Amino acid sequence: MLTDTLCTRCGLCCDGTLFGDVELRGPSEAARVEALGLEVDTDDADTELLALPCAGLTGTRCSVYPHRPQCCRTFECRLLQQARRGEVSVDDAVKAIDDARAQVRRVHALLAPLESRQAARLPLSERVANALAAGPVREDSRTARRRTELRTASTALRRTLKVNFAD
Ligand code: SF4
Ligand code: SF4
Repeated sequence: MLTDTLCTRCGLCCDGTLFGDVELRGPSEAARVEALGLEVDTDDADTELLALPCAGLTGTRCSVYPHRPQCCRTFECRLLQQARRGEVSVDDAVKAIDDARAQVRRVHALLAPLESRQAARLPLSERVANALAAGPVREDSRTARRRTELRTASTALRRTLKVNFAD
């Protein structure tokens, strides 16, 4: 199956890179998901959301796969859809995932000295926004350079996600 080849080496729709949360199908699914140890939030309209990064993700694989909520069963990113239709070869899709994951690693490496450990629990876009906003008025040149590199790397990653992975 394509998902075995592609999704198990990716996880970008689960780890807070693509999304900050996904909508659940109401209170009963939210309760079931919470019982699995996953985090549930609600938005302003009291809609239940699965909070990302998902606690069910181990590396790039779903550890609760047979019990995953409906949103996870139905979501297919653009790359997966294109590979399914034969518009992108499996080899090229694997390369696109590996390239995107390398970009994510680069952003994580730049973020590490600019944030607390607890921040890693937040979606990536929020972490980047916090790190870029938190600079003191005067900062040493190394930190300033790192912030500039983070801004550039995160803009490039956002472009990659929009082009290859948005649905
Ligand atoms: S982003 Fe696409 S390829 Fe990656 S895990 Fe999600 S659906 Fe699969
Ligand atoms: S339950 Fe599984 S498929 Fe759904 S977001 Fe979490 S790790 Fe991903």
